[in-house]
Amino acid sequence: MAHGRDTLPDGPTEKCGVVGLSLADRAAARPLYYSLYALQHRGQESAGIVTHDGFQQHSHVDMGLVGDAFSESDLAGLNGTTGIGHVRYPTAGSVDKSCAQPFTVSFKSGSLGLSHNGNLVNAGEIRDTLAAKGHAFTSDGDTEVIAHDLARNLLEGDLVRAVKRTMERIHGSYALTIMHDDTVLGVRDPEGNRPLCIGELDDGYVLASESAAIDTLGGTLVRDVRPGELVLLERDGSGFDSYQLVSHERTAHCFFEHVYFARPDSRIDGTLVYQARRELGRRLWDESGVDSDVVMPVPDSGRAFASGYAEAAQDDGADVEFAEGLMKNRYVGRTFIMPTQDERERAVRLKLNPIRSTIEGRSVTIIDDSIVRGTTSRQLVSLLRDAGADEVHVRIGAPPIVAPCYMGIDMATREELIAGDQSVDDICEEIGADSLSYLSIDAVAAALSSSRIDLCLGCVTGQYPYDIDGEETDRAVERPAVTDSAPADD
Ligand code: AMP
Repeated sequence: MAHGRDTLPDGPTEKCGVVGLSLADRAAARPLYYSLYALQHRGQESAGIVTHDGFQQHSHVDMGLVGDAFSESDLAGLNGTTGIGHVRYPTAGSVDKSCAQPFTVSFKSGSLGLSHNGNLVNAGEIRDTLAAKGHAFTSDGDTEVIAHDLARNLLEGDLVRAVKRTMERIHGSYALTIMHDDTVLGVRDPEGNRPLCIGELDDGYVLASESAAIDTLGGTLVRDVRPGELVLLERDGSGFDSYQLVSHERTAHCFFEHVYFARPDSRIDGTLVYQARRELGRRLWDESGVDSDVVMPVPDSGRAFASGYAEAAQDDGADVEFAEGLMKNRYVGRTFIMPTQDERERAVRLKLNPIRSTIEGRSVTIIDDSIVRGTTSRQLVSLLRDAGADEVHVRIGAPPIVAPCYMGIDMATREELIAGDQSVDDICEEIGADSLSYLSIDAVAAALSSSRIDLCLGCVTGQYPYDIDGEETDRAVERPAVTDSAPADD
């Protein structure tokens, strides 16, 4: 098998949460701010909101968590009943404001704001073509490439046609909320890799990465934005128009959204994430259940998996207790934010503390959603042994992660992935567990009611649904040719 590349093809990836809002006659800033709070798990590095009051754009973007990025006066200055927002996930090296979003640009026929979740695989080619035409770029991110391409197309056609042209040029993963002057639109890539949904409020419409943001605003989920669809919110908040701009034969929904990234209370592509995780947990028991005295989740990511696993075990008559034996210090950030391995090792100890009485003298099964570098499992196994566990079994609700994600999830490089070049037995030994099992790819596909080909499984197969330099693809996809002239209208 080809080893594949270890770096990203085009600059930093955008691992994020996006929102867009159009209201009848209420300021959009505060509901946008609340919806970004609801999407905070999708990005903690920076947060931003752009609104439009019918005359001009207002923007505030800052580093840090949503609660830290905006003051009362920042929100008060964001005038207008329409707007978009963004939270950005931390990535190594991108700790300045140049990558923070929404990205804004003004051009001859108006202003644009863009919030992007995903990652293009041909941004470099498009950037080169546009740079040759005199476009000046201020960041190496692909969102700016989309913004410039769209701005150029807007000079030659109406909004819908301009978006179509841009969609025909860009290749890869994108869930976008866009503001063109005071009009808000949402776009999802033809494979629907990242989630995006539409919600209805009493006095308007909202677009959001996850339905939990709609719930937070007291709205109702209308439906997911379809792969290849443009949704255009009416400026007065009275409805939305839909344009199916690019056709798609197959989807490539990211299975890892269901496994780890999305909130359990969100409904993505017709499935409640919590329900999906419980089902994955049930299948984990069916495939590789092991007798033990107690089953415990790794909080919080393993909780729904562990409850499904324990329920399936009990349904089978297993005499096993389901217990919360690991307590989480909720004030410690995600371990991935720690830049060095040494700091990451210490962070796990800071983050989780065992309850000795549920563990001592017993055989314990811990359930987590995934193993990336192996840091969490290694630390937890030794923590549980120190707390007196007789046996420690590890069960994982996803297949081994063997390859990087190019489509918008910060998954570590190939070299850092513990399953990148090791067998399950080797990993079991390395983390010091009595046994280790992962869920099969087929079980993931069955639990998510998709055939394998309708999911993006790149990180667990090493084969991607997009044409990525130096990697294998799992289907016949071709990048659009990036030419000087925009494609002809149909
Ligand atoms: P590791 O400790 O490197 O093996 O990472 C596995 C732990 O990190 C699990 O508890 C996961 O819930 C969590 N995790 C998985 N993927 C990610 C990600 N992309 N970013 C942050 N945490 C993650």
